[in-house]
Amino acid sequence: MKKLVSTAVITLAAVAPAFAQQDLSKVEIKAEQLAPGVAVLFGAGGNIGISYGEDGTILIDDQFAPLTPKIQKAVSDLGAQPVKFLLNTHWHGDHSGGNENLGKAGAIIMAHDNVRVRMASDQQTAFGEVKASPKAALPVVTYADGLKLHLNGEEVRVIHMPAAHTDGDSIIYWTKSNVIHMGDLFFNKMSYPFVDASSGGNVRGVVTAADQVLAFANDQTKIIPGHGAIATKADLQQYRNMVAEIITKVEAGIKAGKTLDQIKAEKPADGYGVNTSGFITADRFVETVYSMVK
Ligand SMILES: [Zn+2]
Repeated sequence: MKKLVSTAVITLAAVAPAFAQQDLSKVEIKAEQLAPGVAVLFGAGGNIGISYGEDGTILIDDQFAPLTPKIQKAVSDLGAQPVKFLLNTHWHGDHSGGNENLGKAGAIIMAHDNVRVRMASDQQTAFGEVKASPKAALPVVTYADGLKLHLNGEEVRVIHMPAAHTDGDSIIYWTKSNVIHMGDLFFNKMSYPFVDASSGGNVRGVVTAADQVLAFANDQTKIIPGHGAIATKADLQQYRNMVAEIITKVEAGIKAGKTLDQIKAEKPADGYGVNTSGFITADRFVETVYSMVK
């Protein structure tokens, strides 16, 4: 429980400068191998995916700037070369906080077009203003729909998902290793979804993104969520159904003439095995859904 609380506070640091002075000195970066040459790194902030081998190392997301040396050490401990490519699943600081360090160290940064647009200018968010990032932190390769990387013996597909967690989300699919990184399109049980309306997110897009991933995942697929432990296709299916059902319940309440308070009192988000007091509480998620479907 304590761990969940501290994760939530650190997640807030993503978009809230007031929370940015977290003590990250005690954070350990832990690696979990998912396939030969593919691993996940857990620390503080968004989960990091890594592919490494003869063609070099690509990192998916990079947590917070003070953690960069520990992340580089974890990369080296896997037997991987220094980071050659870095891809951001979206612009939030708990997924892109290490960009400046890694960019200066020579990594080529890639992301959806809107990630660069948002990082390059001051952003007003639900948690306050986030200042523009320095040039070295910005993606230099951007795309509208996605791209393919041909690295380390497999095709790695990067696919943009329209307006969901933000307006710049990408998922990464290792086609041979059968691993998918979903960024914050998927929180595995530690919180309800965070739909960042100020960054162009939409709750219906979260369902659409999950449907797209479910269409090519199978029972052996290992799914890296933005936050939480490694998940299966069944976990994602459950998450998708939860979000869709909550939308349906809130829509029905609105149609029946109920107020937001009356709908919240019926607890439409309870009973799904998600931590109801996590980073995004059950009530807060219902408020988000209400604001987006009414
Ligand atoms: Zn995020």
